Amino acid sequence: MLYSELVNTYQELEKTTKRLEKTYLIAKLLKKTNTEDLETVTLLVQGNVFPSYDQRELGVAARLILKALSQTSGIEQRKIEDKWASIGDLGKVAEELIAKKKQMILSKEELTVKKVITNLRKLAELTGAGTVERKLQLIRELLSSAQPLEAKYIVRTLLGELRIGAAEGSIRDAIVWAFFPPIIGIFFQCQKCKNWMPKMQKCLECGNKIDDKFAIEITKKHTGKILKIKSKKDLENKNLKNYDSILTEDEKTAREAYNYLINVVQTAINLSNDLGITALTAKTKGVKGLLTIALKIGVPIKVMLFQKAKDLEDAFSIVGKPAELEYKYDGFRLQIHKNKEIKLFTRRLEDVTKQFPDIVDIVKKNIKANNYIIEGEVIGIDPKTKKWLPFQNISQRIKRKYGIKEMTKEIPVMLNLFDVIMINNKNIIKEPFKKRRAWLDKIVKPVPNKLAVAKALITSSEKEAEAFYKEALEKGNEGVMVKNLDAVYEPGSRVGYGVKVKPTMETLDLAIIGAEWGTGKRAKWLSSFTIACKKGDKFLEIGKVGTGIKEKGAGVTFTQLTEMLKPLIIKQKGREVTIKPKILIEVDYEEIQRSPTYSSGFALRFPRVVKIRYDKPADEADSLEKVKRLYEQQRGRKK
Ligand code: AMP
Repeated sequence: MLYSELVNTYQELEKTTKRLEKTYLIAKLLKKTNTEDLETVTLLVQGNVFPSYDQRELGVAARLILKALSQTSGIEQRKIEDKWASIGDLGKVAEELIAKKKQMILSKEELTVKKVITNLRKLAELTGAGTVERKLQLIRELLSSAQPLEAKYIVRTLLGELRIGAAEGSIRDAIVWAFFPPIIGIFFQCQKCKNWMPKMQKCLECGNKIDDKFAIEITKKHTGKILKIKSKKDLENKNLKNYDSILTEDEKTAREAYNYLINVVQTAINLSNDLGITALTAKTKGVKGLLTIALKIGVPIKVMLFQKAKDLEDAFSIVGKPAELEYKYDGFRLQIHKNKEIKLFTRRLEDVTKQFPDIVDIVKKNIKANNYIIEGEVIGIDPKTKKWLPFQNISQRIKRKYGIKEMTKEIPVMLNLFDVIMINNKNIIKEPFKKRRAWLDKIVKPVPNKLAVAKALITSSEKEAEAFYKEALEKGNEGVMVKNLDAVYEPGSRVGYGVKVKPTMETLDLAIIGAEWGTGKRAKWLSSFTIACKKGDKFLEIGKVGTGIKEKGAGVTFTQLTEMLKPLIIKQKGREVTIKPKILIEVDYEEIQRSPTYSSGFALRFPRVVKIRYDKPADEADSLEKVKRLYEQQRGRKK
């Protein structure tokens, strides 16, 4: 397939913000992609070069792209940088530069998606001497064959910011739309151009108006082969490829059948973590093939996430009674895979096996099973006092590439296990939580301060739950998890099968003292605001916030903040601006941490703007003393 065909879809995707339209465009692209290129196109449409379980990175910084652009276009790098600063999108800059060059030279060969992915993948494999020059060569090769628009998307893909809004959910739906027959009632056939459309007012191809009720009746009479089904289960046994559409007895069954197909594809994505393989399997092996995509030890699966409950009463009302309460350890999540060897993955599916030889060792010796996928939370232990340390203290171990052995002594860790996904070659995600968890007691031999099964209490009593929660906080945990005993493991979703309960933190009123001009679509707005508390009459930085601000609608918007702050800009350097402290915002956060990065010595974890404090002058920003006090009160950290 030519890369230009993919680029056409990128362009169209960029023009619309409507999810249904995006899905339709992606489905159209997948449908016309030949089988050989399908995996590649499915990855590239989301801007990915590797499936999400694959750790390889392109390792291309903006500097390198600037250099390649300069060499390809013959224009000085400094001039390209200036252009970039004013446009805010290096992709667009590439488009302009290549357009100018193309007026002079006609390129010899047309780019294919295969050529693009091959060069991009090679980038990730280069190491050692001469790497930079070889990377430059690979990028130049693509840019010099590229048409202007192709250059735009190559650069954006290199930077890892495609900006076309093709979310995983849209690609999942598009796989269903592309490779399974349309279900009548969910889809309609346009009477004018005969294309199949989801429920919408106008045909996306020819603009013809679609009248719901009327359309169902006409669609039923279409000339293709119709599969009539009684229930969603019929979809498993039929070869859907032989049919042009699916007809159900009523609308409810149509919706159920559609949701069934969506779920089958989603499960395949969750288990394989590979959109490309999922699309290819849907096309070549249908529902049956998707259902056999299995968990593979060594390939991380998306973890199940938890919702937040207001308090314990709320938690019980969500998960039911009795429930299992567990300490919510303040560390990071680890998915442990064991087959012949042991592999450790973070919640973001990064492979951290090398960084934690101590965990590999303890797990190898003290978990007795041939193979498994289990999950737990790693926390730091103070080597002297053996007290549990907050996450911040061990975060450096995750990124560490050298001196790892010494680190295991300096910052020892403990693993607290809380779930089992696969055991002795059996996928048990559909088994109730209490059964999955029971495996842990069978296979884990606890080692003090090193390995344990998460501390738990099964109860229906709110009084007992309160006491357990209090105990959890006193021990330095973040709070408790409250889990439904009968729930299955739902990879990748934030379902209410378990909820977290944590103390809410008092919000802070902080002054805005700096910001950054956005890039791309956000180039006209200030974003990423530097916030500060007060010490005497000085303002001290405590972090940056960009969350909680909307593009439009109710609440605090970027336009609103930009207009308020623009007259207060006192200095500008590149995209960064310094702002006179006049505006106060109320900020919510999950935790206060010590931080050498900011002048206050503290940072906020997950800060979020609640509102603008029009009623308070900046002088009344919260003080460093208050920040310190709140820090000390957190999770029984009081001395
Ligand atoms: P949050 O990151 O606030 O959404 O909370 C969920 C995270 O808490 C999980 O992803 C785990 O990393 C962590 N966690 C700590 N203790 C437990 C536990 N007992 N069960 C499940 N998750 C836990």
